[in-house]
Amino acid sequence: MWITNGGKASWYFLLAKTDPGANAGKAFTGFIVDASTPGIAVGRKEINMGQRASDTRGIIFEDVVVPDENRLGEVGQGFKLAMGAFDITRPLVASGAVGLAQRAMDEAAKYALERKTMGKPIITHQAVSFMLADMAIGIEASRSLVWKAAWLRDQGKRNTYYASIAKALASETANKCAKDAVQIFGGAGFNSEYPVEKLYRDAKIFEIYEGTSQIQRLVIGRHIAEQHTQS
Ligand SMILES: Cc1cc2nc3c(=O)[nH]c(=O)nc-3n(C[C@H](O)[C@H](O)[C@H](O)COP(=O)(O)OP(=O)(O)OC[C@H]3O[C@@H](n4cnc5c(N)ncnc54)[C@H](O)[C@@H]3O)c2cc1C
Repeated sequence: MWITNGGKASWYFLLAKTDPGANAGKAFTGFIVDASTPGIAVGRKEINMGQRASDTRGIIFEDVVVPDENRLGEVGQGFKLAMGAFDITRPLVASGAVGLAQRAMDEAAKYALERKTMGKPIITHQAVSFMLADMAIGIEASRSLVWKAAWLRDQGKRNTYYASIAKALASETANKCAKDAVQIFGGAGFNSEYPVEKLYRDAKIFEIYEGTSQIQRLVIGRHIAEQHTQS
């Protein structure tokens, strides 16, 4: 379920349970599956809250036969493979969240300079400028963490911990920035004539896909426990 580009892809990466008795770390094997294999049916394009240009679908597999030559890695190593992929994809998803947060701040700052209440631009009301300042703090911190996680990967160093921190922080920053951008727009922010209501809807999924914020904290918490057990 929820497969991005499910209706576009020619090949799928699939984890199949090959040892139902084993724990998650050993139960799955990875396969590359040709989308035209008999037994595969592509579901409808789902109507999501945001990011609606993205094609999200359920893919149904029924008695699909996959040759052993399509196996990725060793039998039972699929979960490890998938987790390893997150070290690359989580910083990338986090960079998308930083982009959304930046756009929300830019739109809000522009509007706050134009809109006047009580005789002056709302950006000069401290309550509004502090919301913008908090956006900037979150964006700069998130962007630095995305770069750190990506840089570590480029150096061939383990980045799982930083990938999860970057993903959690950037996605939560995007949500806060989008929420506060709507607030700065006031009533106009709630209307689809302005871009910020779409940013608000688009932001939510960053806290869910590629591992929810709770799962990122699970990864980070395990890492802290490991580090402190060794030292
Ligand atoms: C638009 C969209 C696109 C997606 N694209 C893809 C894709 O291309 N490929 C793909 O494989 N998946 C994709 N997903 C799936 C996505 O990664 C999952 O929806 C997400 O990881 C959450 O899993 P779940 O939906 O099963 O929620 P659940 O696992 O049922 O979680 C429900 C809630 O319980 C919490 N929770 C669950 N387990 C724990 C735990 N152990 N400790 C603490 N809290 C926990 C979660 O954080 C969440 O708040 C996509 C989803 C969406 C909505």
